[in-house]
Amino acid sequence: MKANLLYEGKGKKVFMTENRRGTLVLSYKDEATAFNGKKKANFTGKGRLNNEISAHIFSRLQKQEIETHFIKKLNETEQLVHQTEIIPLEVVIRNMAAGSITKRLGMREQTVFQPPLVEFYYKNDQLGDPLINDDHARLLCHISDSEIAEIKEKALQINQQLIHIFAGIDVKLVDFKLEFGRLPDGSIILADEISPDTCRLWDRHTNKNLDKDVFRQGTGDLLEVYQEIYQRLEARS
Ligand code: UDP
Repeated sequence: MKANLLYEGKGKKVFMTENRRGTLVLSYKDEATAFNGKKKANFTGKGRLNNEISAHIFSRLQKQEIETHFIKKLNETEQLVHQTEIIPLEVVIRNMAAGSITKRLGMREQTVFQPPLVEFYYKNDQLGDPLINDDHARLLCHISDSEIAEIKEKALQINQQLIHIFAGIDVKLVDFKLEFGRLPDGSIILADEISPDTCRLWDRHTNKNLDKDVFRQGTGDLLEVYQEIYQRLEARS
């Protein structure tokens, strides 16, 4: 089913499919990167965990009528998705202050944002994914004002679903990153992945980090915390 490699990113490889037009195979890698690729390490089994977690979450979002690129899981590390043209925008939603916003704006960690904050970053490794405003997004990403509004609205809807999914496994959703893609008919749907690589997930009772921060900060075992998220999700479904 898998044909040529189309693209290799930090967390995944993207392959063309042989006989299903308009679809792609996403193959999750074991490598973890942080600080724009400056810190790197291999964790055998990470690709499987992210594939399982992301497939689980995307399936649940689809049951809630949220349109996504996800079609099905193919095997332990691969999934089939609809081909989209990825909009070069990293949409970050924050329910609580952590990470870059605490440094950039001096906010105290754990400050609650109600309503949640939506931020746009320009997806460009060479520039280090800079924070941009709506006008920049319109120019750089070739999206209209109404599409910007639509992306924000979708991101906030997805946030509500994700808060619910993670609350069900005693996890607080602090912040996360989404990417959207355009289908040939012009419509915009959720793409990429949702996993502990792209979310800040804190245990409800202990605030223990159950996400990539353990690798970024060197404070824990990445595989152990990703496994914890996977097991809790599977146990509740
Ligand atoms: N994030 C991501 N990819 C990026 C940048 C951020 O998935 O290239 C996620 C990150 O895991 C966190 C959220 O987006 O859940 C907000 O990240 P932040 O801006 O605080 O940057 P960080 O401190 O993670 O560098």
